[in-house]
Amino acid sequence: MISVEEALEKILSYVDMLEPEDEPLLNSLGLVLADDVYSDIDIPPLDNSAMDGYAVQAESTKGACSSSPRTLRIIGEVAAGYIAKEEVTPGTAIRIMTGAPIPKGADAVVQFEDTDEEKRKAAKKPLTDIGILRQAAKGLNIRKAGEDISKGSLVLKAGTVLRPQEIGVLASLGKDVVHVIRRPVVAVLATGDELVDIKEPLPPGKIYNSNTYSLASQVERYGGIPKILGIAKDNIKALEDKIKQASDADLLITSAGVSVGEYDVVKDVLARLGEVTFWTVRMKPGKPLAFGVLRLGKKKIPHLGLPGNPVSSMIAFEQFARPAILKMLGRKSFTKPTIQATSEGRLENRDRRRVFARVMVSKRDGRYFASLAGAQGSGILTSMAQANGLMIVPEDKPAIEVGEEVQVQMLDWNEEM
Ligand code: AMP
Ligand code: MG
Repeated sequence: MISVEEALEKILSYVDMLEPEDEPLLNSLGLVLADDVYSDIDIPPLDNSAMDGYAVQAESTKGACSSSPRTLRIIGEVAAGYIAKEEVTPGTAIRIMTGAPIPKGADAVVQFEDTDEEKRKAAKKPLTDIGILRQAAKGLNIRKAGEDISKGSLVLKAGTVLRPQEIGVLASLGKDVVHVIRRPVVAVLATGDELVDIKEPLPPGKIYNSNTYSLASQVERYGGIPKILGIAKDNIKALEDKIKQASDADLLITSAGVSVGEYDVVKDVLARLGEVTFWTVRMKPGKPLAFGVLRLGKKKIPHLGLPGNPVSSMIAFEQFARPAILKMLGRKSFTKPTIQATSEGRLENRDRRRVFARVMVSKRDGRYFASLAGAQGSGILTSMAQANGLMIVPEDKPAIEVGEEVQVQMLDWNEEM
């Protein structure tokens, strides 16, 4: 038996960061920038107003206060998106909206609240003059050109993972296409004579193929593009035909047929098409695992053979396929967020494997508590549906007792927990 770490290290040694490609900006969430991004423009492009108010010369407001306003003549108005035609001179003002470029001659903006505009409007007089109620310093309420990003500067470094805020920054630079590491195509193949597609009626003795759907969704969640190969029957020809359809994928994930002895067909086919190693990994669930490299045409495709049990395949995916996908995406960090919690259940670990128990983590009085999410059998997929984390029982620990502190790998992370 090999450890979870050994298996992961081996798998990661066979996958590399993929090549970059151009992606439309809106498709690049979660992807990794392939190049440094510099700005061709100043942001904001021009000095502009941070407030709705009056663009003035600070000098014209000297000594202004509410008991002694300075009255200025209004010579125009400018909204965001327009350039004022008029020039502000001593004793004049231009009505200005937030975001509008500062008119020529002006060096400060007095916000509406510091003028008598409300009073004048209430008196229903035409707005030809404005009383300034407070002295303005030069630069007041002016956002300087380039204060966010200056032309020519390095804005985002290669290797940056694009979150909504980076997507926004790239949009503010006018980048509609970005150079990013492409998403891996991950072929997903279910194997087993007992499997029926979810569109079909369910004959006696058969079960619906659920692994394809949970695994494909995991692929998608972590940034890959699932390529569904459907179900392969337990015979050499069916399996070979399906596996060959993975030739344009970056990774092939199969489920089932890796438990000892009983599944020689998969073994034979995989061995014929490449090299394959069958491992028993010191973990529970998810002990049987196959890993190899398939030669399909000129391409070499890493293949991860997950166990068939629905819970095992999902947990093995989290531990091994997720890091492989993230590495191909150019990510540097593969670890799932892990927290410390107090166990509310007792769990035995009889055979010295690392147990990933399905738990529901909740927060009370600033502490995390983990309670077992129902029966822990590897076929009980609803335990995954009830769980938001995987409680880790170390290999050398015979049991976790109620009240003991444990590490929990979070499947989901939300603040409302
Ligand atoms: P195996 O790894 O072939 O021994 O399968 C282990 C268990 O997982 C068996 O009970 C299978 O019926 C079940 N199983 C295998 N593949 C799937 C699948 N695609 N969807 C749901 N259950 C499956
Ligand atoms: Mg089987």
